[in-house]
Amino acid sequence: MEKDNVCINCYNQVDKVAKLLKLGQAELDILTIPKRILTFSFPVKLDSGDIRYFTGYRVQFNDARGPTKGGIRFHSEVNLEEIKTLAFLMTLKCAVVNLPYGGAKGGVMIDPKRFSEEELEKISRGYIREINNFIGPDMDIPAPDVNTDAKIMAWMLDEYEKLKGRHIPAVITGKPIPLGGSKARDFSTSIGGAYVLQELADTFDMKLKKTKIAVQGFGNVGMNIARILHEWGYKVIAVSDSKSGIYNNKGLDIKEVIKHKEKTGQLLKFKNSKVISNEELLELKADVLVPAALEDQITKKNADKIKAKLILEMANRPITPEADEILLDKKIFIMPDILANAGGVVVSYFEWVQNSQNFYWSEKLVLERLKIYMTDAVKALSKVCTDLKCDMRESLYINAVKKILEAERLRGNLR
Ligand code: GLU
Repeated sequence: MEKDNVCINCYNQVDKVAKLLKLGQAELDILTIPKRILTFSFPVKLDSGDIRYFTGYRVQFNDARGPTKGGIRFHSEVNLEEIKTLAFLMTLKCAVVNLPYGGAKGGVMIDPKRFSEEELEKISRGYIREINNFIGPDMDIPAPDVNTDAKIMAWMLDEYEKLKGRHIPAVITGKPIPLGGSKARDFSTSIGGAYVLQELADTFDMKLKKTKIAVQGFGNVGMNIARILHEWGYKVIAVSDSKSGIYNNKGLDIKEVIKHKEKTGQLLKFKNSKVISNEELLELKADVLVPAALEDQITKKNADKIKAKLILEMANRPITPEADEILLDKKIFIMPDILANAGGVVVSYFEWVQNSQNFYWSEKLVLERLKIYMTDAVKALSKVCTDLKCDMRESLYINAVKKILEAERLRGNLR
């Protein structure tokens, strides 16, 4: 088989697991070569009247367990290898939380801050026109990701429905509620992570009011998880955004912090708090550290200085592989991204189910069901780990890889 399309990062990531599970070449190919890769460019007329071509990607990695699923990101650093890796991670993520989906990811290489709202709408519609024959409720279902949101999903849905001439809300998730979006989708990633933490509370003796938590990142995910954990009674001692952080060892009133940020546009100058940098926040003496900002925040340079007992990865890949080893040696427990932040895609799945049935659920029902999906996945993982004496990331990969390969085998694609 030609190996031109192989995803190098995926190869590096499954390597350890492949050895543990003694995988053969056909199995490795399934896990490292995407099923379909779309690379395209499309013209958009800018506000200035000039026409510019944009590059877009959609990678449908594996669909053995169901239609492919995954977000679309708008970022200046989007490239094919990154999209392949993220599509691979979506395949694992959906398997870990037992969704009947494969994995996909898409992106457009742009810095969205440099375009007007009208231009972003045209880019969103142009992107969907390019992939419209390759997506659908039983084929591939996009969703929001970095720098894309419900408003962009609404434009994308509208473009798709115009092309097809009928209503098909289940083609895309993360939509605004009046267009068929699900209740709680906007904070589902954060509350999913909070449920995971709650499930670990007994094992790690994390008592409400006593457990100190530091959250890096105050975007949608970071802000909401800080808010939820504070509401539940945990002591959130530090939060930060891209500019700076604030700290109070007795705990911050996150509701007030949110009001302050909304009013002043910054975290700085919040009453009774000390200013700290993002680096200092990571190294605080907290029980739980929640990186909820960008990739590569904990590296071999600072891993040794981390003092938290548990790290909940709400961002995608906030810990580099070298740092991972250092943290494991220090006996720090890591709850990996593909489970910690899976709450978003679980509620996307609920949205798709609601769209398919034309029957909509209350927020209470969405949250009850989300909790079951998240806690069941944690329980299943803890078991793999004890059986195989592996770390949490390995056990997560093993669990997902086994499910994907089993589906391929049942289809007759593997011996
Ligand atoms: N972009 C989110 C993720 O990476 C959500 C994907 C989805 O809902 O399909 O998990």
